[in-house]
Amino acid sequence: MKLIFLGPPGAGKGTLAVRAVDILKIPHISTGAIFRSAIAAKSPLGLKVKAIIEGGHLVDDQTTIALVKERLAQEDAQNGYILDGFPRTVPQAEALAGFSPVDRVVNFDIPDSAVLERLSGRRVCRNCGTNYHITFNKPKQEKVCDTCGGEVYTRDDDREEAVAKRLEVYREQTAPLIDYYRKKGILIDVDARPLVDEVVANFKKALGV
Ligand code: ADP
Ligand code: ADP
Ligand code: ZN
Repeated sequence: MKLIFLGPPGAGKGTLAVRAVDILKIPHISTGAIFRSAIAAKSPLGLKVKAIIEGGHLVDDQTTIALVKERLAQEDAQNGYILDGFPRTVPQAEALAGFSPVDRVVNFDIPDSAVLERLSGRRVCRNCGTNYHITFNKPKQEKVCDTCGGEVYTRDDDREEAVAKRLEVYREQTAPLIDYYRKKGILIDVDARPLVDEVVANFKKALGV
């Protein structure tokens, strides 16, 4: 199954994706995570996108599309995948339709107030990318990753100014994809407000798995 997870920053896409990987046995592909590891590695891609991402802006379509096209050509993505954070613009959606049309688009339904609470408390492992939350999902030991012992930190783009920009960019450039995919008849709405286990149950029910 080829899936897109669509929703505002902080909706819980990455968190649900980790659970959905176990259920569906397909890889989780997050463009944000790929960009963050490129930044950490100081690769040419990382150097190019660092300031853009930290300011809460979108990386240009050409760069992002090329990256996803290359990733989806790999062996592990041939039987399906979860695309988390891509597409984020109509041109990205159109490019994807040309090289790998998806089966379903999961729309994370959540109000801005909940998103702000999730983003302000989000913490991430610098080493393995595992997500935490200072209220809803704390690491056992403060600032230490349960999975790998890495440093748990606040993403630069989860600071207040960048968050405001990201929500504005989401409304203007990404939210139109909800109607775009609804018109194609492949959109599924999932209530993303409850606790993670309940969101997982909503997701399974909506997808019929
Ligand atoms: P979140 O889920 O919190 O929105 P992501 O990890 O998906 O964050 O993305 C982090 C940042 O990486 C985005 O704010 C944007 O700068 C960049 N990015 C990720 N995916 C894309 C994309 N499809 N197009 C352009 N920029 C992207
Ligand atoms: P996204 O990938 O959509 O940007 P994340 O999965 O990173 O969102 O979740 C954002 C923050 O909210 C993280 O700190 C995560 O631990 C927390 N979170 C995710 N889902 C829930 C939920 N259902 N209830 C409470 N907190 C959640
Ligand atoms: Zn870790």
